[in-house]
Amino acid sequence: MPEPVIELDGICRDFPSQPPVRALDTVSLRVGRGDYLAIIGPSGSGKSTLLNVLGLLDRPTSGGYRLDGIDTTTMRDGARTRLRGDRIGFVFQSFHLLSHRSVVENVMLAEIYGRQSRKGRRERALAALERVGLAHRTEFPPDRLSGGERQRAAIARALLGEPSLLLCDEPTGNLDSRNTEAVLDLFDELREQGLTIVVITHEQEVSARAGRRVRITDGALTEL
Ligand code: ADP
Ligand code: MG
Repeated sequence: MPEPVIELDGICRDFPSQPPVRALDTVSLRVGRGDYLAIIGPSGSGKSTLLNVLGLLDRPTSGGYRLDGIDTTTMRDGARTRLRGDRIGFVFQSFHLLSHRSVVENVMLAEIYGRQSRKGRRERALAALERVGLAHRTEFPPDRLSGGERQRAAIARALLGEPSLLLCDEPTGNLDSRNTEAVLDLFDELREQGLTIVVITHEQEVSARAGRRVRITDGALTEL
C-alpha cells in the first residue's frame, strides 16, 4: 500500500445525548496517498460523524487517528486547527459561493492565514482555478456558471492551501449526470497528482468510480 494518509485505529464517538448514541463503533481504516475512497450508508449511520473526525472538526471519544503520520489524538485544539488548515480541504453538496464576488475572489477567501500578500493570494487562486479547468471563468460571478463549474470553483477553493486530503460530503448531490461526470473526471486527475480523496455519497455513479468502497451501518464500518 502507498504511504498512509489516514490511519484510524479503533475509533469510537459517543454522544452523551439522552439516550446516549455511539455514532462510531470501533472504526479502523487506512487510506493511502492518492487513494479515492467512497463511504456509503443509510441516513443516521455515522457518515458525517466520521467525516468530521477525519477533518479534525470533532474528536473521537476513544481510539487513535494519525493524519500524514502525525498523531492527532493528543494534540491541543490550536495545533489541530493549524494541521487542518495545512492538510485538509472540504467540499460540500452546496457550493457556498458568495454571489456578489467573482470566482477568483471566492477562491481567495479561502486564505485564512493572511501570510501572503494580496497579489500572492490572487496568483495562487488563479493557479488553483487553472488546475480545475476554470481559467476561462475567473472573473465571472458564480451565478453565470453551470452547477458543475460552481462545484469545481468550490474544489479550487478547497485546494488553495495545497491539502493532502480532500473530504467531500455528497459533492455531486446538486448536479445532473453530465456535471457529475465532469467533477468525477477532475477527482481522477487530482488523485493522479497524489491527492487523497474521501467521498460520502448515495450515488452509484460516484461510488463506482472510487478505487475502494466502505459501508457504515450503525457506526460500524465494513469493507465492500
Ligand atoms: P449520517 O451522516 O450517516 O446521516 P450522522 O453521523 O450525522 O449520520 O449521525 C450518526 C448518529 O449520531 C445518529 O444517530 C445521529 O442522531 C447521532 N448524532 C450525530 N451528531 C450528534 C450530536 N451532536 N448529538 C447527539 N447525537 C448526534
Ligand atoms: Mg450526514
